[in-house]
Amino acid sequence: MVHFVGAGPGAPDLITQRGAALLRAADVVIYAGSLVNPALLGLCRQDCSVYNSAQMTLEQVLEVVRAAHAENRDIVRLHTGDPCLYGAIREQMDALDALGIPYDDTPGVSSFCGAAAAACAEYTLPGVSQTVIITRMAGRTPVPEREGIAALAAHGATMVVFLSAGMLDGLQAALLQGAYTPDTPAALVYKATWPEEKVVRCRLGALAQAGRENNISKTALVLVGDFLAPDYERSKLYDPSFATEFREAKP
Ligand code: SAH
Repeated sequence: MVHFVGAGPGAPDLITQRGAALLRAADVVIYAGSLVNPALLGLCRQDCSVYNSAQMTLEQVLEVVRAAHAENRDIVRLHTGDPCLYGAIREQMDALDALGIPYDDTPGVSSFCGAAAAACAEYTLPGVSQTVIITRMAGRTPVPEREGIAALAAHGATMVVFLSAGMLDGLQAALLQGAYTPDTPAALVYKATWPEEKVVRCRLGALAQAGRENNISKTALVLVGDFLAPDYERSKLYDPSFATEFREAKP
C-alpha cells in the first residue's frame, strides 16, 4: 500500500515516530526533493528504491506506485511539513482510488508550526488574535478571488503566508489594504528548523526590503500580526481567580 507521510519542516528529528517507522520499513520512497530534508533518506533500508518527485509528473509518480504495488512492495510518499497543506495529495489519493490501491496518511509538523517555534511565538494571544489565517499569494496556482490577501487581511488576525517569499512587494501592498498598518509587526522565517534557519523581524512597511536585504526569496514563510508585538492579555486558564474543571479559583 501507499503511506503518505509528513516529513516535518526540515530538521530530520522532527518527523513523527510513525513516519520514521514507515520510512525504515519502506521498499519504495518517493520524496518531494525540493523541500524534504534528504537526511531523512538515511532512515531508508539500503535496498529501498528512492525517487525524487521534484523531477516527476503526477503520471510518473503513479506509474512508480502502480508497478511497486503490483510487486506487493510498500511505498512511502514523503511530503514536506504536513501533507494536508499545499501537498497535492488529493489528486494522488483520487488516482489511487481509481487504481484500487490502498493508502493511509501520517501527519507531520507543518512549517507554520516550525516557523512559530523558530520565532518563539504564540499565534493565538488573548486580546490580540484567536485566529490563524493560512494562505498564499496567487502564483501559477490561482487563488479564488474571495480569498485574496487584501480581503483576508481585513480581519487583522494572525496571518501565515506560504509560497509567496518571491512576491514580497505585492504581498506587502495587499496586506496593507487590510486592517494592518505599516507598523504592524511581521517576520520572514527562512528554512525553519534547518541549520540555515533565519528569522528576520521587521515592520510590515519594510517587509519587501527585509527580504531583499536578507536575500530571502524562497523556502520562507511570512508571519504578520500583532501577535509579534509585546502586548497581550494573560490567559484565563492559568489565572488564579479563574476556576476550571481541574482547579479551584482563589480569591
Ligand atoms: N506541506 C508543507 C507546505 C508545502 S508548500 C507544510 O506543511 O509546511 C511549500 C512552502 O512551504 C514553501 O514555499 C514555504 O513557504 C513553506 N515552507 C516549507 N518548509 C519551510 C521551512 N522549513 N521554513 C519556512 N517555510 C517553509
